Amino acid sequence: MAEGLQPIFILPEGYSRTSGKDAQRNNIAAARAIASTVKSTLGPRGMDKMLVDNIGDITITNDGVTVLKNMEVENPAAKMIVEVAKTQEEEVGDGTTTAVIIVGELLKNAEALLDQGIHPTLIARGYRIATNKAEEILDKLKLNLDVASKEELSRIVKTATIGKSTGADAHIISLIVDAVQHVKSHSGKDERVDQEDIKVEKKIGGGLEDSRLVRGVIIDKEKVHPDMPDVIRDAKIALLNVALEIEKTNIDAQIRIEKPEQLEAFLNEEERMLKDMVTKIKNSGANVVIVQKGIDDSAQHFLAKSGILAFRRVSESDMKKIGKATGAKVASTLDELDGSALGAAGFVHVEKMAGETLAFIEECKNPKAVTILIRGGTEHVIDEVQRAIDDSIGDLKSVIEDNGAVVAGGGACEMEVAKQLRDFAKELEGREQLAVNSFSDALEVVPKTLAENAGMDPIDIVVELRAEHQKGSTWAGVNLLDVYKPKVSDMEKEGVIEPLRIKKQAIKSAGETAIMILRIDDIIAAGKSANQAQRPPMPGGPYGE
Ligand code: ADP
Ligand code: MG
Repeated sequence: MAEGLQPIFILPEGYSRTSGKDAQRNNIAAARAIASTVKSTLGPRGMDKMLVDNIGDITITNDGVTVLKNMEVENPAAKMIVEVAKTQEEEVGDGTTTAVIIVGELLKNAEALLDQGIHPTLIARGYRIATNKAEEILDKLKLNLDVASKEELSRIVKTATIGKSTGADAHIISLIVDAVQHVKSHSGKDERVDQEDIKVEKKIGGGLEDSRLVRGVIIDKEKVHPDMPDVIRDAKIALLNVALEIEKTNIDAQIRIEKPEQLEAFLNEEERMLKDMVTKIKNSGANVVIVQKGIDDSAQHFLAKSGILAFRRVSESDMKKIGKATGAKVASTLDELDGSALGAAGFVHVEKMAGETLAFIEECKNPKAVTILIRGGTEHVIDEVQRAIDDSIGDLKSVIEDNGAVVAGGGACEMEVAKQLRDFAKELEGREQLAVNSFSDALEVVPKTLAENAGMDPIDIVVELRAEHQKGSTWAGVNLLDVYKPKVSDMEKEGVIEPLRIKKQAIKSAGETAIMILRIDDIIAAGKSANQAQRPPMPGGPYGE
């Protein structure tokens, strides 16, 4: 009897399965579509994107990872690309767009090799060899900058922020470098930067030039009672995560009040309890109280009468930061509160700004804590400044912790790695050589895109750059310092430098993701559950570019 006439179902109903070439092509198309959405944001001449979420909130950004995080990507391969950007952001804090467009190009070139009948595992192997070799080459290319020099660190920040709408504002650059230099510490002979030490606080109003660096912590809170002092010197700070309120029981208790005196006695009892709480605080020696929960009106009144400055409903993360800065321990009962739990700060004050009040905790016990206060005309402006600051802090941290290891930007570094990889590939066997060469070509997408975004002809530029690198100009790249005169220059001489760590991570995670995607030849997907609503398609369609 003939077998196999009957189809055999191995997957439950609703599952879909794509295998072999179709699976690969689908994945590659999805990955490329993602890469093409962020391409236009790369570099100093990159454009911004306006993202509108499903409740109508608008974000205007030039930051690759922000774009990708806000897109509701459904395709699994596309999601992997979004992960690359997130990893890059978490590991090193910058270079997200670069990583994503390199993966896109690696897969595009892989597709051409697949078309020539080269097996995906061979391509993957070649890409693996190239990823490792690229790292080696980068290590040898490394330049060193003086991490003690504010001027040199400023160049890093300039490269990181030049394309953001803040336009590498000199005042903001100076604030960022000061903040990082302030918090860096030595562990053994290595320097360390803890991003947690730098808080960024935003307040709409004023202009960028009104932004400033505060040596301490700022919280977006007002004092709870108008009679409280605005300024406290030699502050002893209590951090409480217990409410200064009388706990209401969950059980419906009934209190029978028959005579007016009884009501009075009842209210007096409540007052007495609140007063006791305040007395405990006062006896601990605290003159500033910061509470994560609420503060009852009467308690506010008693605190004010005792000359104590108090804030309520402060977020947990702010509580932690204040704890770290002042040495205060968060108390969860008032009995825990004694002198040893209190933190110290030289100067606590409240200040009115754009109609709202901010509280400043300065001259802290731990001098490492700083806050960058961003001012700017609109929420969109200050949000984008915040993203630029976040990127820059990641960049400075990388450079400082790696003892000043940098490479030149403007695609110079990618061009040079590509060139050296091609030289190296000559020693390899035929098909591997093809794959390594495709990897090299893919790295050139960085200068190409920088040029394209600046309105230059990408092909001409790559030809020119290849010739320069062949002649031995290691750092020839696309110079976009002058908006009106983009040209090919020696980017090291131009002072456009970036952390080595960022580049290494970008190329490595791009390579690894491309390899992972190439090795997939079967997609088995569970059907959508009925309650998952159909989402609108991705902008640009699934096959952008
Ligand atoms: P990413 O998300 O990858 O960090 P960016 O939009 O921040 O993307 O762009 C970074 C790229 O811009 C880097 O390749 C960097 O070398 C390049 N770049 C920065 N400043 C200049 C400049 N003045 N001229 C040319 N390229 C620059
Ligand atoms: Mg960047």
